[in-house]
Amino acid sequence: MFIDTHSHIDLLENISKIISNANKENVKIIIAGIDVKSNRKILEIKKENLQVEICLGIYPTEALKLSEKEINSEIEFIKKNKDKIVAIGEVGLDLKENLKETLEKQKENLSKFVKLAKELNKPIIIHSRKAESECIEFLESLNYNQIVMHCFSGNFKLVKKIIENNWMMTIPTSVKNSQHFQKVIEITPIENLLCETDSPYLHPDKKFPNEPANVIESYKKISEIKNIPIKKVEKILENNYANFFKWWFYH
Ligand SMILES: [Zn+2]
Repeated sequence: MFIDTHSHIDLLENISKIISNANKENVKIIIAGIDVKSNRKILEIKKENLQVEICLGIYPTEALKLSEKEINSEIEFIKKNKDKIVAIGEVGLDLKENLKETLEKQKENLSKFVKLAKELNKPIIIHSRKAESECIEFLESLNYNQIVMHCFSGNFKLVKKIIENNWMMTIPTSVKNSQHFQKVIEITPIENLLCETDSPYLHPDKKFPNEPANVIESYKKISEIKNIPIKKVEKILENNYANFFKWWFYH
């Protein structure tokens, strides 16, 4: 089984076709929520497609638009749905879309979600765009280890830190044409890797939209760079997923 550990297929039209394309390629889909609306939509998708896994969370830029009360009430909502989710996410810090002045507020929001992940004993999927070192430092200070750094674009010194911390990194399908992610594969032990599409974004051939069936492109690159047959990569990553997401617990 191939696993797309991070997608936003709720943003796509024709979701049932997207899911059947993935099924045909033996790809398991995980969808990550980004705001109040998408959290509800992906719960609906999960209801109709039990083989799909979901995470609930609030993207850092969206969290900045909410009051503290609204964030707390969404956290309560996630707690109520804890048995339906495999992780908390997508949450994190973002200094590309947001000004540096918002960093403290973003950290405050992120710490609420880390606290939630701790309480539920689930992994947390972290977005860290243009705030990579701030994000790692802050997460280290919160003392939680079930961390997945999604589409991590920080420098290789930071990648080493992630490896030292024994966190996971997800290789996006854009690796096909990205020297940065190819190098991440090279320097990271396979035990710390998972794959993702971030559908509809990060298409392997820079098209739009991307979809989970394409996650195989990430597997191909890992196979090529690490010189391990793709069947074996598939097995190892399935094992990584089972260990990290406590998959057996839900099936
Ligand atoms: Zn995402």
